[in-house]
Amino acid sequence: MSMFSFNLKCPHCSCLEYFKIHRIENYHSREPAQTEPQYNANIPRNPKDNRPAQSYGTANCPRVNCGGPVLIWFESIHFSFRDHGRSLNSTEWIYNGPPPKVLGVWPTPPCADDSEHWPDRLRTVFTEVQEDISLNRDPSRIVGTCRSILEVALASLGYDKSKGKVLSDRIDAARNDGLLTEAMRAWAHKTRMDGNDALHELNSSRQEAIELVNFIRTFLEITFDLPKRILDLSSVTD
Ligand SMILES: [Zn+2]
Repeated sequence: MSMFSFNLKCPHCSCLEYFKIHRIENYHSREPAQTEPQYNANIPRNPKDNRPAQSYGTANCPRVNCGGPVLIWFESIHFSFRDHGRSLNSTEWIYNGPPPKVLGVWPTPPCADDSEHWPDRLRTVFTEVQEDISLNRDPSRIVGTCRSILEVALASLGYDKSKGKVLSDRIDAARNDGLLTEAMRAWAHKTRMDGNDALHELNSSRQEAIELVNFIRTFLEITFDLPKRILDLSSVTD
């Protein structure tokens, strides 16, 4: 049993899993560098040696349908590396020292797009639908949620029930006011109609879900991020 295990978001399947290190490479401690800068994991050392030491190890995602390999760079204390060597060779050894700290993971887990300029009400849910795409989850729920995000985003921009009884009218009002280009209007209507179908019939395709999430991302960038960024730029150049 390996004592080094890390709770990480898998870069291959995006699931949060416990990765157990199979094997660590040589590790090093930088204090005192002039005496013994390099140690081998297999050589027993002073058990009271609690200097920080860094190493890297390999692990596989434990999820049955994934199993993807991951390289983990981490820091622990010096004697824990020695104990790790023992725990690998004997089931009697159980490590209960301080947990190691992850310094880096390769490949880098994908990050969902998010922006502080987007309305708070939709930020979490938009992060979740992006994760739903990477986890290959049910597309109908993603498509239905895209419709809701569009509705909330338009309301935040002033296109709420005061601008139209139904979402269709509010999209057209945003187009008439110049907020949306013609192509964005067409995409907004597609999101609205596909979202309705998804909620009533649960028959969306994965490709449709990917397209709509991409549109929502572009829509949020154009309507929320671009106006803020030009303001920031103007205040710098003025
Ligand atoms: Zn995985």
